[in-house]
Order: sequence, then C-alpha cells, then structure tokens
Amino acid sequence: MESVYGPLPVFEFHSGFWVNLHHFLYHEARARLAVKNESAASAKTGTGGPALKTSQSATALSATEQKTWDQVVTYYAANYADKDPLVNIDLILLKNQLGDFEDCAELTGHQKRTCDAGLPGNVGPMLEAAAPIYRAHWWGDHDRANRRWVAKVAPLVREQGVGLSERLADIYQTQWPKEKIRVEVCAYANSAGAYTTLDPLRVTIASTDPRNQGPEALEVLFHEASHDIAQPVDQAIRRECKQRDKPIPRDLWHALIIYTTGEVLRPVMNDAALEKGGGDSAAKSAKAAAPQVPYALSDILTQRGWEEYHLLLTMYWQPYLDGKVKFDDAIAHLVSAV
Ligand SMILES: [Zn+2]
Repeated sequence: MESVYGPLPVFEFHSGFWVNLHHFLYHEARARLAVKNESAASAKTGTGGPALKTSQSATALSATEQKTWDQVVTYYAANYADKDPLVNIDLILLKNQLGDFEDCAELTGHQKRTCDAGLPGNVGPMLEAAAPIYRAHWWGDHDRANRRWVAKVAPLVREQGVGLSERLADIYQTQWPKEKIRVEVCAYANSAGAYTTLDPLRVTIASTDPRNQGPEALEVLFHEASHDIAQPVDQAIRRECKQRDKPIPRDLWHALIIYTTGEVLRPVMNDAALEKGGGDSAAKSAKAAAPQVPYALSDILTQRGWEEYHLLLTMYWQPYLDGKVKFDDAIAHLVSAV
C-alpha cells in the first residue's frame, strides 16, 4: 500500500512503516523506563513493586518474537528513551531518515543498495529485527488508525486549508512554504502528541492521541505548521526584548501561536463541532456567543499560566488580528506589557 495519502492541498500526509515503528519503540521504551522508575521508587518506600505494565496490545508474541522485541526495546531504552524527539539531533535525523526510506523493505541495503539508510550505530539492524514482529502484530492496526485520522481531517483540509494557510501567513508577515508540509501520521508520537522539526520542516502527529481528534485535528496541524511560519514573530519579539534590555519571555511566542491558530480557526471549528452535533441555528448562535474556552494546546505552556498570556494577547495582539494596529506596534505593546 502507498505510504502517501492524498492528494490534498497544503499538507502531505504519510503513514510510513519505519517512522511508525520508530515512534512505537520509543513509546515502549519510555513505558519500560517509567515502570522501572516506579518500582525503584516503591522499593524505596517499601510498598512493593507494581504489576508490570505494558502498553502492548493483547496479541501474544511467540517466545522468539518476545526475545527479539525485548532486545530492541532495551536498545531504545538505553539509547533514546531519555532524549526529547523535539530537540535531540540524533532523534531528529533518525526520524527524518526513516521517513525518507519509508518505501524500503530494509534499512541496511543488504538486498537493495538504494535501501541503505546509512543509520548510525546499531539502530538499522535493530529496526530490521523488530520489523517482522511489528508488521505481524501492530502495524495493520496502526496504519488503519493513521488512515482513518487522515480521512477524517481531509475534508476540512480540502475545504479550508488554502484559505487558512494564506490568512496565517499574512498574519505572520511571511509566505506559506511552496512545497506541501510533510506530516508523519503515527500511532504514537512524543508525550505532547505532536511535534515539529525544522530544516526540513516536518510535522509528526499521533493519530491515536485523544487530544488530536475531531476538529482539533485541524488545529493541531496548523499549530504545528506555525512553529515554522511564525518565525518572524519570534524574531520580532527577540528584537523588542533586546531593545528594552528585557529577558525573552519563554512561552510568549508559543502562547501567541496557540492563541492565533485558535482565533483564525474558531469559525471553522465551531461549524465542524456543530455539524458533528447536528445543531440547529439557535445552537449555532449560542455557541458563537459563548465565552472563549482555553484550547487543549494551552496546557503545554509552563512558565506562566495560559490565563495571564491570554489576557495580554487579547489586549495587545487581538487589535492587530482585527486590523486596527500594525504588526510592529502590536509586538512592541505586547513585549512592554509582559
Ligand atoms: Zn507548539
């Protein structure tokens, strides 16, 4: 089956075998570490170890499969589980390589020279060893979940994608990338459920994560894309801070793109939510008038609460979105108020 789904505007969706296997192993290795830390903690307090938790599905592995699978998960636990796929360069390069080789049956080029991904260390052979087990027990379900996720978000992307991308690029005073943004749709991603790496710009989204379902799927897509296209805002914030000798407020830029994506998508989200609920026109106007609820994404902000940022953005950024204030002035007001 083709790993590329489409054609759709703005985004290019992939359900790639190796990238999925990689993220699943990362997830399994993290789960194993968590269990280990938990038992270490309970051993200390003397409460007795917890039952061994596993996120693996019910399908039982044969003894040989289990042994191989454990070896590969152990390798991932030792080499990757404590690293962040968003910032760790080894994980970023590996993920991108696996995406590029999604249509290869192998990664070491033993059968086909063009399928030598040139991966570092032992990770190529490890992934190849895990591949038949993953294919036999999980990949079918994962691939179906990925395709279902894409099929659900596709009508919104087709209908609204171009308009939304133009509006966001306009707001951020930039151009939307000419090439479609590559999205790796995976059963599992990182702990946030989605992340974006730059140069080359690639988005990874977990299709089974409850935070990425329904109309929120569209918001997550445009939020992630904004990590790249909203760079001019980041630069403007830095410039203003430097001029005022202020430290750069850590989450301000991130709060701004969460806020902006939410505002720009709100009409689409409301319509989509109503369609799902089959609401009448009275329900529609009630929904439109309802006070703004914090977006699911807002709980990733750490340094300051979303409430505080939200207030500042409503006061100083919203006027720019409404066309009442210039970009530079809005950023200047925002930075001086933070
Ligand atoms: Zn983000």
